[in-house]
Amino acid sequence: MRIGAINGRAYLLAGEDQGVDLAEASGGALPSDPQQVFERWDDLTVWMASAPSLAFAQIDPAELELPVPRPRQVFAIGANYRAHAAEAGVAPPEQPVVFTKFPSCLTGPNAPVTVVSAKVDWEAELVVVMGREARNVSRADAWSYVAGLTAGQDISERAIQRLGPMPQFSMAKSLAGFGPIGPTIVSIDEFPNPDDLALGCAVNGEVMQSSRTSDFIFSVGELVEYISGLCTLYPGDLIFTGTPEGVGATRKPPRFLAAGDLLTTWIEGIGELRNPMIAPAGQDGAGA
Ligand code: ZN
Repeated sequence: MRIGAINGRAYLLAGEDQGVDLAEASGGALPSDPQQVFERWDDLTVWMASAPSLAFAQIDPAELELPVPRPRQVFAIGANYRAHAAEAGVAPPEQPVVFTKFPSCLTGPNAPVTVVSAKVDWEAELVVVMGREARNVSRADAWSYVAGLTAGQDISERAIQRLGPMPQFSMAKSLAGFGPIGPTIVSIDEFPNPDDLALGCAVNGEVMQSSRTSDFIFSVGELVEYISGLCTLYPGDLIFTGTPEGVGATRKPPRFLAAGDLLTTWIEGIGELRNPMIAPAGQDGAGA
């Protein structure tokens, strides 16, 4: 199943442009608030298994909004692809490198992103959406705690990231609009193999990243095991699972996002996230 948000309401989606309001379709048994859907994930899957006849109608995909609007926690993982660790000049970590993206940075699948400086970079990522509270979950059981997957961008301001003696991942990756996700959440049962998905991103159609999640250093199961062994994961929490090789900062020469660029991010079985880059208010130039 595919879940998205339109006008602040949860929708079940089919194909590119068909949808039905979840609360209306379920006669009010399931929530209209997109965030609450993940608190009620088990109820939703039981209801879907009862094979309700759904009256899908035309929707405009451009109206799809942030599908997980208020997660309690947003975890993110650094250096989780072998090839990206190599391009960044770091040894593959022996345990996950975890930081947070503050939830205020999240934005929707068609939302513009303000390019605040000349050092704004892309990071295409698979994003995990939790469907159950998880504490001390083993890697073997981890997928049963996950509601679904979506595409995301861990947009990063590389100058802020490198300010001071220690990396400032959380701050540099949490500027307003630096966390687009979507376009929809796709439930795990829709993937023949959720541990091996093609993903990538392009700037104005030029491919910058193209890889597979099978290049992960830590699989989704290992990440859920590690994080849930230290913290409690709640329904609707997000895990940005790291980015593959091809970020702008390590290209030769380096390349960054500029106002006027269109950043397109895709993941096999999920679809495309399209975010236009814009100049800060009061500036009309490209690249700031
Ligand atoms: Zn990242």
